[in-house]
Amino acid sequence: MAVEVLEQLYEGKAKKVFKTSDDSLYMVEYKDDATAFNGEKRGTIEGKGVINNKVSAMLFQELEKHGIETHLVEFVDDTHMLVKRVEIVPLEVICRNVIAGSLAKRVGKEEGIVLPKTILEFSYKNDDLGDPMINRYHATALGLATDEEIDDIIAQAFKINDILKEVFAKANLVLVDFKLEFGRTPDGKIILADEISPDTCRLWDKDTHEKLDKDRFRRDLGDVEEAYIEVYNRLKKIGL
Ligand code: UDP
Repeated sequence: MAVEVLEQLYEGKAKKVFKTSDDSLYMVEYKDDATAFNGEKRGTIEGKGVINNKVSAMLFQELEKHGIETHLVEFVDDTHMLVKRVEIVPLEVICRNVIAGSLAKRVGKEEGIVLPKTILEFSYKNDDLGDPMINRYHATALGLATDEEIDDIIAQAFKINDILKEVFAKANLVLVDFKLEFGRTPDGKIILADEISPDTCRLWDKDTHEKLDKDRFRRDLGDVEEAYIEVYNRLKKIGL
């Protein structure tokens, strides 16, 4: 690898980010640490960092093939990926195809109801506030993103949802919902950043509706590592 890893810039719940000798690139390290419910529940999922790094890299590469620009530059090793330096837009962009999780509670409906159209939500990425749900008017009025950037993010999120739904369907998985984060490149372009993994997606087996994602950790369902590995193996099997 040509670039040298320099000082740590940031440590989040699931990843660390390092500066590198190339000003335009960061190194991301995926950790085994897991948190849920705004940090109230903490634990370790053995081998999670490796799986999430690999799954994210596979999905980013697949999205790139379909014309979505991502921050991925190179898969480096089991727990590291080299990424483009971006400034993260402080929004969590959530796409929902099936009712689950916080939406089920908010609207008083059962998990598992297939939505006739995809719901897109924004949360303000702020741990102290517990990532409150906001809409595009909040986002623009608070200066989190411009109207043009929000339009771009929405268009990309729907396209990403279409691509990922199909990919996971081939792996006999239902993409229930997922969270995306976008970044601004130094020249102002909005590209897909962060990760796409069983930590950030709800994935159910198509036939049995078995949960193969972080809900196994959140809800103490057991076999968390096994579920993450199952997702990886299924994606490998369909050629990702
Ligand atoms: N999600 C995430 N990070 C967050 C919040 C949500 O990756 O900080 C993902 C979550 O895994 C799920 C989707 O976004 O796939 C929708 O989550 P929801 O709003 O239902 O919240 P949750 O029930 O996970 O608290």
